[in-house]
Amino acid sequence: MTSCPKQIVHYMHEYLDGEIENDAKEELKLHIETCEDCKHHYLELKKTIAFVQSASHIAAPAGFKARVMASLPRDKKKMGVERWLR
Ligand SMILES: [Zn+2]
Repeated sequence: MTSCPKQIVHYMHEYLDGEIENDAKEELKLHIETCEDCKHHYLELKKTIAFVQSASHIAAPAGFKARVMASLPRDKKKMGVERWLR
């Protein structure tokens, strides 16, 4: 079994924050290349961060999308959903 250094997850966060030391970065890279579990965890983390960043970017104009959705007539919204379900 692979032993995962405890600090690896910590390094992942530092790396994604862009605040990682070079030594730690090398250690992280090396470990991710050899450990499927940590690689998977890292990719999930990266995906989540990318999603949160893009979502917060969309949400930037203060609930614009929510207002648009709320202003749509109810039957129009239903029609749209049914189209996707068909
Ligand atoms: Zn690992």
